[in-house]
Amino acid sequence: MDKIKITNLEIFARHGVMPEETALGQKFIISAELSLSTEKAGHSDRLDDSINYASVCESIATYNKTNTKKLIEAAAEGTAEHILLSFPQVRGIRVEIKKPNPPIHLHFDSVAVEIERSWHRAFVAFGSNIGDRKRYIDTAIEKIRSDPKCRIKKVSSIIETEPYGEVEQNNFLNGVLELETIYSPHSLLSFLHKLESEAGRERKIHWGPRTLDLDILFYDNVISDDPVLTLPHPDMENRNFTVLPMCELAPDFIHPVLGVKMKALKSNI
Ligand code: ATP
Ligand code: CA
Ligand code: CA
Repeated sequence: MDKIKITNLEIFARHGVMPEETALGQKFIISAELSLSTEKAGHSDRLDDSINYASVCESIATYNKTNTKKLIEAAAEGTAEHILLSFPQVRGIRVEIKKPNPPIHLHFDSVAVEIERSWHRAFVAFGSNIGDRKRYIDTAIEKIRSDPKCRIKKVSSIIETEPYGEVEQNNFLNGVLELETIYSPHSLLSFLHKLESEAGRERKIHWGPRTLDLDILFYDNVISDDPVLTLPHPDMENRNFTVLPMCELAPDFIHPVLGVKMKALKSNI
């Protein structure tokens, strides 16, 4: 990916833990490396096709002046998020915030924090088999759509499926959506759990009836066997209600563990 680099932008802000830091303020030096495609602008030579780095600098400065944090970690996190949300062409950002004169009575040059954040691609499966199933699903999709940290790219057709597992219960409506998100995998899961509880989801029996179930099938190519968040979602390849919508959305997407395309998984089920 192409880069636009802003180096050593000097600003005056009030981040700090010590009361005198907040009261008096001090100098901070911020560098940012933006990942984006500059190809279109490279060919057209038009500013509209790129981002205006003067506005990025303004935006970084204004953010840090108006959002005072105790830690430069938090200032860097907020700055990265603010730029990713304000400039849609920016796919990723590396931010370094340096405090050249921290209130420490030892001699050293500066202290700095550097973080990297970006948009990620995730596939989320949704299902419902209690009450107004379609409304639970539509409401969840609308809530995801209105969260600035998520951008829904595609939603599959909704299919009606027989319940999975042994429990006697109603048929499900199922589907999958593709989104871009700046949530980390665990933050995305917490956000989805919040939507489930807002839909009155109760966890009584495993694979039992539910108003809303939201599972993360894939998050980039992340592989994790953490039971709180297993990625890819275990068993997705054996469920027609996840494989079929995945084939509709991204037939060529490769399962990072199995190493096969979604369309090849169709023959599994
Ligand atoms: P299944 O995960 O087999 O479809 P389920 O959806 O009925 O079953 P839940 O009761 O909704 O299971 O979730 C149980 C726990 O699974 C959640 O609290 C969550 O922490 C964990 N979990 C692990 N991996 C994932 C994932 N990829 N997406 C969603 N939840 C996950
Ligand atoms: Ca599930
Ligand atoms: Ca679940």
